[in-house]
Amino acid sequence: MENDSSSPRHILQSVFGFSDFRAPQNEIIDTIIEGGDALVLMPTGGGKSLCYQIPAIIREGCGVVISPLIALMQDQVSAMQLLGVKVAFLNSTLDPRTAQEIAKALQNDELDLLYIAPERLNQERTLQLLSQSKIALFAIDEAHCVSQWGHDFRTDYLKLSMLHELFPQIPRIALTATADARTKEEILFRLQLQDARQFIAGFDRPNIRYRITLKQNAKTQLLKFLKLDHPSDAGIIYCLSRKKTEDIADWLRGQGFNALPYHAGLSSQTRSNHQARFLREEGLIIVATIAFGMGIDKPDVRFVAHLDLPKTIESYYQETGRAGRDGQPANAWMIYGLQDVIKLRQMMEDSDGSEEHKRAEQHRLNAMLGLCEITSCRRQTLLSYFGEDLEQPCGNCDSCLEPVETWDGTEAARMALSAAYRTEQRFGVNHLIDVLRESNSDKIFQFGHQKLPSYGIGKGIDSNQWRSVFRQLVARGYMSVDLERYGALRLEEKCRPLLRGEASIQLRRDIKQKTVRRQTKTPLASEIDVALWEALRECRRLFAEELGVPPYVIFHDSSLQEMCIMLPRDIQEFGLINGVGERKMEKYGPAFMHIIAEHLAA
Ligand code: ADP
Ligand code: ZN
Repeated sequence: MENDSSSPRHILQSVFGFSDFRAPQNEIIDTIIEGGDALVLMPTGGGKSLCYQIPAIIREGCGVVISPLIALMQDQVSAMQLLGVKVAFLNSTLDPRTAQEIAKALQNDELDLLYIAPERLNQERTLQLLSQSKIALFAIDEAHCVSQWGHDFRTDYLKLSMLHELFPQIPRIALTATADARTKEEILFRLQLQDARQFIAGFDRPNIRYRITLKQNAKTQLLKFLKLDHPSDAGIIYCLSRKKTEDIADWLRGQGFNALPYHAGLSSQTRSNHQARFLREEGLIIVATIAFGMGIDKPDVRFVAHLDLPKTIESYYQETGRAGRDGQPANAWMIYGLQDVIKLRQMMEDSDGSEEHKRAEQHRLNAMLGLCEITSCRRQTLLSYFGEDLEQPCGNCDSCLEPVETWDGTEAARMALSAAYRTEQRFGVNHLIDVLRESNSDKIFQFGHQKLPSYGIGKGIDSNQWRSVFRQLVARGYMSVDLERYGALRLEEKCRPLLRGEASIQLRRDIKQKTVRRQTKTPLASEIDVALWEALRECRRLFAEELGVPPYVIFHDSSLQEMCIMLPRDIQEFGLINGVGERKMEKYGPAFMHIIAEHLAA
């Protein structure tokens, strides 16, 4: 069946223009085609959609895709239409007449794929319609929405178990990028998928480069990062407060970047307008609070920057995971400092949760801080947090690329701890540094701290380095910040062995404004001619505008890049480019090849 015109591989090549499956796509597809159920856990960008799209095309009848992301349905449908697939969607945004036409097409078996919002599916008339139609499969996308334990719980998802009762013969495939075991069990149980085959792909995102740097001057650092790595790329910048998102967006516009804010305090119209522009335009930067993200299906987000520390590794991984869904190089860049820790701890303290809840939050924050301060491979730490093993250091994070220097901070740490101890754990970092460095400030004399044995013992270390010592002691749990006392530093149990001389400590050496090795901006290989690249992008933009779709729906950056390298001269060669299926070859081949021909003649 491999080379049969209706084999999965043939569809992959002729319709989607891809040469090979990514494991385990083919196995999943075979399972569904044979009528079995499947649970698919795959990271964002892993290629989940093909797993139901291809069986829907091959199996008799229409594949029904249940998705909560109404805002994206139009784009998903447009993208599939361009591939020549017969596809439609049903949700509350449609006028009754169009909805009726779609219902008719479904009954007449004229559709390969139909996207439905869960609340729509649960309506009596929709169920009736489905029972009168030929259904190839049910795909339940974002399946974690059925879990009350997860963050995106939706009541409408709970009712989806009835699919199994009403349509026992029809294969079902549930898909999600959420990894944890509890959510998985809940999906299996609530959707009655206990007998489904499970496909769990690794969670690594090798194309994302992780970097975490000390916060010094946030704006200068951000500007340098953008100018060097992403002068004209689309990206997301996360901040903690609404006001800050607006300030940073304004300021970036002043610096010549195309940037817009996004947070829950903006009107819903402004929000959807900014989101739509992010999807449609090229090179737009969204400066957002965590309100931005769910359902951002844009494949060519080239960077995610954090100006404030996320509360947990889970959030960090989810937010950074929005970069590079297309598999091309992308950056996850973050700056953080002691102030972030104090601010987050304060927010947790002020929240209404139970003591137990607060302790759990504290614990997660500590894991996040641990990730910031480690001197070994970031990816190994991240993956092991999610229960996955990466044997070798990744070679694509800051620790791997510019190994951090460490120094024996045992003596310094002891001085820092005893300064805090002798001042009765009532003072913040600035005053402690004053004590250690023999300052003559009024406060020193007011409290008689010039008489302490700690006074002046740390003169050999400058204040920046002291700051770094205190930050690392806090981040690693040797000290804590007393919020009742305006950030006074207290000693924790963990520091005892250090004080008793039974343990030592290695600290990171913070480097002033790291010289970060440059990652190419939009991933342009060196053999690519920039003028040709720009001309192809312009051509893509015109087609996209004409159809009212985002540019990546026409071709992904990677396809344009391949055109620049392969320089196809005829339609057959053009068809060999990744992402060029038969339909796009006929439709867009001539225009793009014309530009390439002109380029070659020039
Ligand atoms: P997910 O839904 O898992 O986040 P998608 O289904 O959107 O991921 O796929 C991510 C990207 O990978 C898309 O641009 C898709 O076209 C591409 N892709 C998926 N499968 C393949 C494949 N076998 N070969 C090449 N590209 C693929
Ligand atoms: Zn690494």
